[in-house]
Amino acid sequence: MFTTGMTYPKKYIVTRIENAYEYTFFCDVDDFGYTTKPYSGIIAEETLEKAWQEAKAYFNRCHQCGAWVCDQHYNEDVMKCTSCNPKYPY
Ligand SMILES: [Zn+2]
Ligand SMILES: [Zn+2]
Repeated sequence: MFTTGMTYPKKYIVTRIENAYEYTFFCDVDDFGYTTKPYSGIIAEETLEKAWQEAKAYFNRCHQCGAWVCDQHYNEDVMKCTSCNPKYPY
């Protein structure tokens, strides 16, 4: 596995479609998933980075634990996920 220094969500699935790869990335907290368009390439790792560039717009990175979460699980005020910093503490 080659390292780019980039991080991806812990949960993602790769679907092979002929000579292309399609990725579904998931929020660390729930089942929210975003599926990218297919990216053609021989090696999955090559396309992963491109696919993630597309999907990234739908995710937010927690500055505390490093998790990638959907908008619903992100507390923008503090730039942390709702597991680290709940939006509505009771
Ligand atoms: Zn967090
Ligand atoms: Zn979520």
